[in-house]
Amino acid sequence: MVRNISLSLSPEDGFDDSRLRVSICRSLRIQSSSVTGIRIRKRSIDARHRSVKVLVDADVYIGETPEKLYKETVFPFSDAKKRAVVVGFGPAGIFASLTLLENGVTPIVLERGKDVHSRLKDTAILSREGKLDTESNYAFGEGGAGAFSDGKLYTRSTKRGDAKRILSLFVQHGADESILYDARPHIGSDRLPYIIENIRKTIEAHGGEIHFGKKVTGLIQKNDEVIGAECHDGSTYMGPVILATGHSAKDVYYFLSEAGFILEAKSTAAGVRLEHPQSLVDSIQYHCEGVRPQYLPPASYSFRTQVNGRGVYSFCMCPGGVVVPASSEEGSLVLNGMSPASRGGRKANSGMIVELRKEELDESDPFAMMRFIEGIERRCFSDGFAAPAERMTDFINDRLSPSLPATTYPRPVLPVRMDDVLPHVIASSLREGFLAFDRATRGRFISSEALLLAPETRTSSPVRILRDESMKQRCGFYPAGEGAGYAGGIVSAAIDGSEAALRLGGDYGYLL
Ligand SMILES: Cc1cc2nc3c(=O)[nH]c(=O)nc-3n(C[C@H](O)[C@H](O)[C@H](O)COP(=O)(O)OP(=O)(O)OC[C@H]3O[C@@H](n4cnc5c(N)ncnc54)[C@H](O)[C@@H]3O)c2cc1C
Repeated sequence: MVRNISLSLSPEDGFDDSRLRVSICRSLRIQSSSVTGIRIRKRSIDARHRSVKVLVDADVYIGETPEKLYKETVFPFSDAKKRAVVVGFGPAGIFASLTLLENGVTPIVLERGKDVHSRLKDTAILSREGKLDTESNYAFGEGGAGAFSDGKLYTRSTKRGDAKRILSLFVQHGADESILYDARPHIGSDRLPYIIENIRKTIEAHGGEIHFGKKVTGLIQKNDEVIGAECHDGSTYMGPVILATGHSAKDVYYFLSEAGFILEAKSTAAGVRLEHPQSLVDSIQYHCEGVRPQYLPPASYSFRTQVNGRGVYSFCMCPGGVVVPASSEEGSLVLNGMSPASRGGRKANSGMIVELRKEELDESDPFAMMRFIEGIERRCFSDGFAAPAERMTDFINDRLSPSLPATTYPRPVLPVRMDDVLPHVIASSLREGFLAFDRATRGRFISSEALLLAPETRTSSPVRILRDESMKQRCGFYPAGEGAGYAGGIVSAAIDGSEAALRLGGDYGYLL
């Protein structure tokens, strides 16, 4: 027999397996010895009231063998005659490759950067010495921008595809099963590289090819059909192409535009990374003073408001995380955040961003938004990737900070007035937005211990590569993921990549 149960529990009972079992048995009035297994279906935290609760929805197996939480995907050995070129090995390219492989199609992956472990060294050098490798950094290389990301895996795009399948494939390759039922699944920047490496091994073990250090510089066409890709070193790889190059690869947009592919400007959002002491965020969210109650994870927040009809919101929050230099070009500063699986750091950081509408720029220029964003990144750049910074209370009062609170950003920070480095529309909307968030938290959000670092700009692509209903633009050409302008975040990029692979498989009669 299987009984479903929904409980509202204390954090101790919700997060400790043996206490959870006791609570379930008590509630169902059954002996623990009769329970053959418990499968949590969903677990979330309800922190709306003073007494924080953990909501658990579970299937309780009594005298029956419990189902596995997910079904493992079986990959056949691929057919060398059925092949597709996948450009970019971020979430979209990775999951496109896995989907091709599942259907017996050989993915030929071309990735401009290095394998994920070499990337770890290059990002460490950037953090320590301020030296950037433009082909191996937080944006480029195996795993894409997702590799050193926070690894938050929630998405609003579940309607567009099977997010559970993506999460199951992560678990199959080493992620913790809790990502299948936690309301806010999270892997952590320390674990993602090993999971990505395991996925690479699956692809290679089943006949797929992965080529690192291969920067694609053009697409090969015949009679208006894309039949392959050409790399910077003159090498060519033949097959229909899934282009999953992310939104940092500006060179890709330029070569596509020159070759007559249709691109358009896209609305996006930009602002700052905001860093608070984690204990302050915990106390706001969990209504506690000082130490966070045991068993509760480091808290995050999500804020959204409108300032003069323009969205201002928090984005990609990293509790217990660090702010990182995520640039892929010299002379341009990009910040982002990540956190390890434990989220054990003393600071919480989050993007705080302002909606930027393409209608406000020259809509006929596909690169108008990209240039606008580029302008901010260039203005914020200083030698060695030092970041402009301002104490939050000084930003509210628009004055240069005489001193700055400690930060996790590994490069130097330079006191500035954010109003001097950010466009007026961003700085003024952020200020109003922060005042609104402060009211919502009874005066606790604006803090002299909080620090603004600029800029947060890579929130979503500023360019869209147009495609039709069947996800292609020309025969043989399937733009996918964040860089194509149809996804944002790890899971939605992964879903988009998978769907592009299915379209390609259908068009070429490759599907099993
Ligand atoms: C530090 C950081 C933290 C983040 N945290 C999160 C998070 O917690 N949760 C979340 O959902 N999202 C997060 N994101 C965003 C997320 O990583 C992206 O949305 C996602 O990676 C997009 O996937 P993608 O495959 O479309 O593109 P990308 O991940 O950008 O991958 C593109 C790949 O293409 C390669 N490439 C580019 N040009 C070429 C070329 N010409 N030839 C060959 N290869 C090329 C690149 O090297 C790269 O590997 C974070 C991003 C960063 C930088």
